Amino acid sequence: MQRQLLRQFIKTEDKQTPRDQRFVATLESLIGLVWDCACKRPKRSASTKGVNLNAQRKHGFCELCGDLTEFAAFMATVAEGQVNDAELEDNKKLELSHQYCTRHKPKLANGEWNPAYRQAKRSLAQFDLELARLGRQCAKRSVPQAASGDSLIDSYFYHYLLGQTMQPADKAELRHQARLMVDSKLSDRKKQMLMLQCSGFNQSEIARRLGIERQAVSKALASIPEIFHLKKRKRQGKF
Ligand SMILES: [Zn+2]
Repeated sequence: MQRQLLRQFIKTEDKQTPRDQRFVATLESLIGLVWDCACKRPKRSASTKGVNLNAQRKHGFCELCGDLTEFAAFMATVAEGQVNDAELEDNKKLELSHQYCTRHKPKLANGEWNPAYRQAKRSLAQFDLELARLGRQCAKRSVPQAASGDSLIDSYFYHYLLGQTMQPADKAELRHQARLMVDSKLSDRKKQMLMLQCSGFNQSEIARRLGIERQAVSKALASIPEIFHLKKRKRQGKF
């Protein structure tokens, strides 16, 4: 709101006198300060789910993926000066979601529930889980440390991230990857299969190792998008 009023002031009242310049500079500083405060993590934050979500919300990400919330995306275009006055009307701004991106907004423009929102919301726990694993592995990629509780799955994350350039600071990209993993239904079982396949096991051997039918392995592997497949390595017989 202060940013809007400031723009208004610059367009109408501002005479570029030293006093006007000081006024504009002061408001710019205050807006910057308030934004930084909003983004700051609370010092004593318990690692409860709500606190995490709040911290993420302040950073402007959609709760369900790596896109900015509608509001944050809008404010970014305001900051870039790409918005005309009509778009700055208050009522328009208030309709924007602070929690979700355009794709994951709960209600569609016609008032109906958004299927993409419901689907993503159902898989929220899995999304948070994959995001945490990706984050841990990304932070130190020289050893498997996704901490999934299963060495095959940990190895999958280790090898998967070796083929990626993501850094822990690439929060948007990490969130996109986690969302894609969940939406592609890349289950832990499928990650185990991919890891065994990458270690040189054929489908019958994978089936035996996991105690399932070979057809199930074949079907599951065929359903996995190419981007999640690992490059084959020399067989090490480690598993
Ligand atoms: Zn989203």
